[in-house]
Amino acid sequence: MEYPYIIDGHCDSLIHFVNGERTLQDPSEGGHWDTQRARGAGVALQFMAAFIESKYKPSMATWRGLQLIEGAHRFIEAHPNQVFLVQKKLDLDQIPDPTRIGILLSVEGGEILGETIFMLDIISKLGVRALGLTWNQRNALADGVGEVGTQSRLTQLGQEVVWRMNKLGMLIDVSHLNEAGFWHVLELSKDPIVASHSCAKALCDHPRNLTDQQLRALAKHKGVVGVNFYPQFLKKTGQATREDVVRHICHIAEVAGVETVGLGSDFDGIDEAPDGLEQVGHYHYLLDDLTKKGFSSLEIEQIAGRNFRRILSDVLK
Ligand SMILES: [Zn+2]
Repeated sequence: MEYPYIIDGHCDSLIHFVNGERTLQDPSEGGHWDTQRARGAGVALQFMAAFIESKYKPSMATWRGLQLIEGAHRFIEAHPNQVFLVQKKLDLDQIPDPTRIGILLSVEGGEILGETIFMLDIISKLGVRALGLTWNQRNALADGVGEVGTQSRLTQLGQEVVWRMNKLGMLIDVSHLNEAGFWHVLELSKDPIVASHSCAKALCDHPRNLTDQQLRALAKHKGVVGVNFYPQFLKKTGQATREDVVRHICHIAEVAGVETVGLGSDFDGIDEAPDGLEQVGHYHYLLDDLTKKGFSSLEIEQIAGRNFRRILSDVLK
């Protein structure tokens, strides 16, 4: 069967490259993601996250973020026949490219901004096109999901970041944001937003997952949720299989519509993966499962990549 192209909303492979642990070229190096396996699986666009580890926060967060962004450029420039950077709406015309994977640079954690708006302009000039406002903790923009009971909305700076991201054509990512912040962003943003790597709370009650009400609101604003493959987000027991990923896809499609569902593996950022979906090369099995579940080929194309492509087309300049 002919498989549709895939857009994956989140992986953490960049950190392994920058730390010198892997080239992201060779499956024998292990890990979840490399260009060879991703290409074979039909990945046409990969969101590559610059995740700023806690030990760098707050004082070294900008330094570390820029180091990761520099690493991403070094990776892309070293392999022009395999990957290319996606920055503009026009670049989407090249997706799917028959031989190369598009890379969309994202930053996970507003700490990179060092509490200034001009850093947002700088990272935009460096090619970053998506920003998660927080990781799990509070920062100068908002509270992450790890801040329990605060119910805080965005700070003044957080609001300015949302408005500026709208101006710059950057995708706002609410995956790690607390619920009050989520609703505040929806009030503020004129563009649709993403939860690049989250699951459904109705199926697995975890702070990182979205309630049905949030899923419906995302849909109303033409947003997309990339379903995360982390077993802890898929099933309360923390033991998950590919079937659990399918359950979350079906639930979100049912509650928020097929046009709201995407894929956001979190490969190389999770210490365990579901049975039967252990690495990026296994994506075909997941698409086969969706066919068996009765999704039409158009619906599978939407889930696999077209929904993420639509929102990028809505947001990028
Ligand atoms: Zn994350």
